[in-house]
Amino acid sequence: MKRSPEAFTGAFRAGRARFEWGFTTRRFPLVVKNCAEFRLAKSFPVSFGIQVHSNRVATARGLRCFEATDGVATQVPNLRVAALSADCLPILIAAPGKKPAVAAVHAGWKGTEKRIAARAVKRLAKLSGADPKTFRAILGPALRECCYEVGPEFLEKFPLSTRRVRGGWRFDLASENRRQLELAGIPAKAIQDTGFCTLCRPKLFYSWRGEKERAARLISWISFSLQPAS
Ligand SMILES: [Zn+2]
Repeated sequence: MKRSPEAFTGAFRAGRARFEWGFTTRRFPLVVKNCAEFRLAKSFPVSFGIQVHSNRVATARGLRCFEATDGVATQVPNLRVAALSADCLPILIAAPGKKPAVAAVHAGWKGTEKRIAARAVKRLAKLSGADPKTFRAILGPALRECCYEVGPEFLEKFPLSTRRVRGGWRFDLASENRRQLELAGIPAKAIQDTGFCTLCRPKLFYSWRGEKERAARLISWISFSLQPAS
């Protein structure tokens, strides 16, 4: 992972594709507070969804904004797909193979409960024809267990990822999604967790819990290019 003031980025080659991904910091010049604003931004062309905490995963065949969608997949080379977040977990997934594909997912607790990460893996398996055991995934900055205070009802929703801490309850959104990705077939070692907590790092990231309505959104994206056979 590389770090610049504006973004954290990474790249890797797998099969005939080179995958590139990243997520922005507060210093990124394009500041968007919601999906509708993002739609109007011309400086950073991406396909994305108007996020509504659903489990809908769309497939982009060109530059497009999808209504009521929280995950976007594509097989188009050099087309970025993106998710916006401020505490919710951005998940970027790469599917190598003969027909490479990528997906960007926005997962808050509602989308996690509706298993959007697993649905994105399924979509990529269908598109790429590859086994999820060859996939890679990156978990971006999100509200982490250190700061994610919840009510006891989370124990019923997510028994494996909710813990009692000092008289209250904490939810581990990242580990819940990691488990979902693993159950969908992605090997544990192929899931890279950046580990960042949005509330703990206010100089780097926006946080809904920290800033409420003032919070802008982090942009997380992934794309791939096809490499000549070597
Ligand atoms: Zn924290």
